[in-house]
Formats: sequence, C-alpha cells, structure tokens
Amino acid sequence: MRRSKPSVATPPDLASAATTRPTAKDPATGAAKQRKTRQQQPRPEKSAPARDRSAVGNSETKDGLHPRSRHRGAYDFAALIADSPALARFVITTKYGNQSIDFANPAAVKALNQALLRTHYGISDWDIPVGYLCPPIPGRADYLHHLADLLAEVNDGKIPRGPKISVLDVGVGASAIYPLIGHREYGWHFVGTDCDADALASAQRIIKANQGLGTAITLRRQRSPQTLFAGVVQTDEHFDISVCNPPFHASAAEAAAGSTRKWHHLGKHAAARGGTPVLNFGGKDGELWCEGGEVGFITRMIGESRQTPGLCLWFTSLVSKESSVPMIVRALQAAHVRERRVIDLSHGQKRSRIVAWTFLDERQRRDWRGVRWQ
Ligand code: SAH
Repeated sequence: MRRSKPSVATPPDLASAATTRPTAKDPATGAAKQRKTRQQQPRPEKSAPARDRSAVGNSETKDGLHPRSRHRGAYDFAALIADSPALARFVITTKYGNQSIDFANPAAVKALNQALLRTHYGISDWDIPVGYLCPPIPGRADYLHHLADLLAEVNDGKIPRGPKISVLDVGVGASAIYPLIGHREYGWHFVGTDCDADALASAQRIIKANQGLGTAITLRRQRSPQTLFAGVVQTDEHFDISVCNPPFHASAAEAAAGSTRKWHHLGKHAAARGGTPVLNFGGKDGELWCEGGEVGFITRMIGESRQTPGLCLWFTSLVSKESSVPMIVRALQAAHVRERRVIDLSHGQKRSRIVAWTFLDERQRRDWRGVRWQ
C-alpha cells in the first residue's frame, strides 16, 4: 500500500512552524555548545530488544556500528558464499590470516554487496551500471537504523514499521540502496528522487527484478539539480522522514583529487595484501559533486525545508566532512528549526555524521504520529 499522504485530511498544525523562533528550552539555541552536541545513545526499542548479531563471523570486528546492524563483527564469508557462490573467487586471505576481499577491486566490492543484499535483505537481483559508486552496505544500513531511532522517539520508544511510514530519499542513485535496506529492514515505503535518468533506470530495474518492491518504492525524476523537493513532491504530500547522501565535492577537480587520495589509501592496503589496485573506481559526476559541495546541497535543502516545514517530520542528510558541520548548523539556526541533531556514524576507519532537523514542536510531533501512524 502506498502511503505518502496522511490517511486523514488534517496533518498536524504547521501554520506557525516556519516562523516560530526557538524558545529557551529549544535545543537549537547556543551555537558553540550545540556544535559539540552529539546524539545520546540510541534508545532501545521497547517491544523488540536489539538482536545480538555480533556472533556472525569471527576474525575482525568493525567497531562503531549500530546495535541493530546486521553487519557487526567480521563478514561470515562461508555463509555469504553459501548464498552467493560468485563471491568465492574474490575472497582473499589477509596477512593477518583473515578472510576479506580487495576493496580496491570494484568487481569484488560489487560481488560483496550482492552477497550482503541477498543474505541479509533478501535482494536476489542487484546490480549497478559501470562507473556508478558502489555503496558500502553497513554504513548505509546504519543511517537507516538511526532514522528508526529518531522515529521511535515520537512513538514511545517503539520503532514504527510498515508501509504507513513514508520516507523520501533525495538522490536515490543507481543502487536504490536506502529504499532496499529500509524496506526490507522496517517495511517502510520510499519515494526516491534523482536527476540522473540512467541512475533512475537502474534503480527501476532493481525494483522490477525483486519481488515485493514494486509497491514499496516509487521513483521520481528531479529536473532541476538545484532543487531538492519542489517538482518531485506534491503540495499535500507528507513524509515521516527524509534521507539523503549528497554529492559532497564542490567541483569535478575536487572530486578527482578526492578519488586519487582514496586510491592511494586503497592502493597501499591492496599492495600490503598482495592485491592489485584497479584505477577505475570513478563515480558519476552527479554522484560526486554539485555546486557548493555538500554544504551547498544541504544548505539548499534546509532553505527549501523552511518553505515547506510540514513536508517531513524529520529532515536528514549525511554529512561527509566534519568541517561542513559548523556551516550547516549556522544554516539551521538561520532557518529557525525547532530542533536539530548531529548523529555520529562510524564504520571502520570512516567517520561521518547525520544531520537531522525538524520544524515541529513536541506536541506537533505527537499529533503527527496520531494522524499518520495509528
Ligand atoms: N543514495 C545513493 C546515491 C548517492 S549519490 C547512495 O547513498 O549511494 C548522490 C545522488 O544524488 C546522485 O545519484 C545524484 O544524481 C543525485 N542528485 C544530485 N542532485 C540531486 C537533486 N537535486 N535531486 C535529486 N537527486 C540529486
């Protein structure tokens, strides 16, 4: 069942949300203090305690993943290969004697993704066109677990599940990775947008190729790269939360320099393991850069969200660079959001964060739940 509109005609009263100033109690006050603020520990789900998945695999642990992550602990290559035999030829033994793959080899990374999606999320047919970025599954899944925690806060600590929860994925990409994981993990309905027609065609192919996704994920084309919501959402439409992994470089040159750095890093590791780096990691232009980089993208999103404060209960975006956070916080202050969060993500060596904001006060959030989730 598609649910991007509330089932009753009266969404929470948001008439004043756009112009409401933060109150003394509002966490959006006090910039210097806020900049250091991190979200408290995720609240445990009351009805279904987090499953302990740390027993999968055994050799290495990937610290910092969310307690509900299916990817804690080392990858269980035996189990993955049992489901996806094609992965076998990419598995190597590291100098520490552990099983791994050469992360500098795009074919190996893709095979690992295919295996993870099949084993953990029941996605049996997943592929992306050559040149598109291959999303790291554990990090993408963690973003969604944190979104589930945010939604649980308005739901007495219980994660709201099922298709009545509607998520807007801005920049769904060729992989449709957030809708796939979010739907399989929590049953949520997704609307995914993108301006890249080829990426949307790839996402559509994945949806068609796997059972049960046709009604769960809807794709829409954004015609204007400078615009995030207008043109792809309807005026009376509401989403419980938005998700976004923006292009983070500010120019093609900066993106190329970033890729080179990444390759140096991966190349060294690959060489240490006896692997051979392949210099075609790439990523399409639209995936890698946009005007103003991630700060520009997210600032535009904040500006648009201010015009449509009732579009989402929570707006969120990934922020790749720590140095982007202060500028984004300033934009949120200028937009007079009711509350904001900066949630740390960590996956192995990689650190990033989610920024989340809402224009709704606590009563409006409870009303939202009452109107949409009952
Ligand atoms: N969500 C995927 C892809 C992220 S790459 C993942 O996490 O792996 C960023 C995506 O945003 C690209 O597919 C790019 O085409 C898209 N994009 C860039 N500007 C956009 C806009 N204004 N609206 C929607 N998508 C946009």
